[in-house]
Amino acid sequence: MEYRPIEGTDLRVSVLGYGAAPLGDVYGQVDPATGIRSVRAALDLGVTVIDVSPYYGRTRAETVLGRALAGVDRDAYTLATKVGRYGLDDFDFGAARVRRSVDESLARLGTGHLDLVQVHDIEFGDLTQVVDETLPALAGLREAGKIRHLGVTGYPLAALASVAARAELDTVLSYCHYTLLDRSLADWAPMFAERGVAVLNASPLAMGALTARGAPPWHPAPAEVLRCCAAAAEVCARRGTTLEELALRFAVGYPGVATTFVGMPDEEQVRANVRGALGPPDPDLLAEVDRVLAPARNRTWPSGRPENNRP
Ligand code: NAD
Repeated sequence: MEYRPIEGTDLRVSVLGYGAAPLGDVYGQVDPATGIRSVRAALDLGVTVIDVSPYYGRTRAETVLGRALAGVDRDAYTLATKVGRYGLDDFDFGAARVRRSVDESLARLGTGHLDLVQVHDIEFGDLTQVVDETLPALAGLREAGKIRHLGVTGYPLAALASVAARAELDTVLSYCHYTLLDRSLADWAPMFAERGVAVLNASPLAMGALTARGAPPWHPAPAEVLRCCAAAAEVCARRGTTLEELALRFAVGYPGVATTFVGMPDEEQVRANVRGALGPPDPDLLAEVDRVLAPARNRTWPSGRPENNRP
């Protein structure tokens, strides 16, 4: 495993991060015992950073993760969770809910402090409220010692940039924007660096689209994008490798982020990903897959309020 600093903080984390969304059954049912083994395997193999949210499986992911982390040395991992989103259409960015949410997460995760708490999917809210109310509530919790660092997450990079320009943040978490399909995060990275905000990358497999199994039914990408991904998986299989490995190598090799969170709910996927993620992608294979994915390149989809999708 390799490690990088989260710039501007005292945190140093593995380049491959454990994304706990699948523990909330987001990609299909995961038996808790299987999920717990996947977390322990990741830690054993040198993964030191974990991302979760009360939203994933409506607290199920945090509950399973808390069981997985019971008895593990608290200094062995960096733990990030979120506030503000609690269901598909259930958002509350108010200060009172933020404070209650952090206390509930601390209890479910069985810890006295959270290393990072980010406001979840800010594009669904009023960004002025996020700046004036949600983040100040988190800053208060930082002063109280319950959390160490704070940030925001979301899909439209314009929303992340807007808040980064108006508030003091440690991190932004962007997803599906540095993958074989979409590299637009690289265009925004200098702006975050200028503001002293560290960038965390998530969903290097484009939420399952860049896997042999393919995307889950709820995936928001247009059908043509998913067809190109299936063709790319075939190219990799013909060459005796996997699209998952190529996609991970591509994302993890990007130096502009501290870590890349991938969802991997069983031990086999953890082992495959830790084994496969490090090292440069095969340039010939990458060029061939790039050609197959060209019609799908940088095809984004709207998320949240329309005004939060515009630069
Ligand atoms: P992902 O791109 O990591 O893909 C996950 C899917 O790929 C799962 O179905 C998983 O089982 C499968 N997969 C992983 N490794 C595999 C392998 N070796 N072989 C076959 N299949 C494999 O998407 P994700 O899980 O949504 O994103 C990663 C993490 O990033 C999340 O768990 C979450 O922690 C975080 N995230 C945060 C936000 C946000 O804050 N708004 C959004 C997206 C993701």
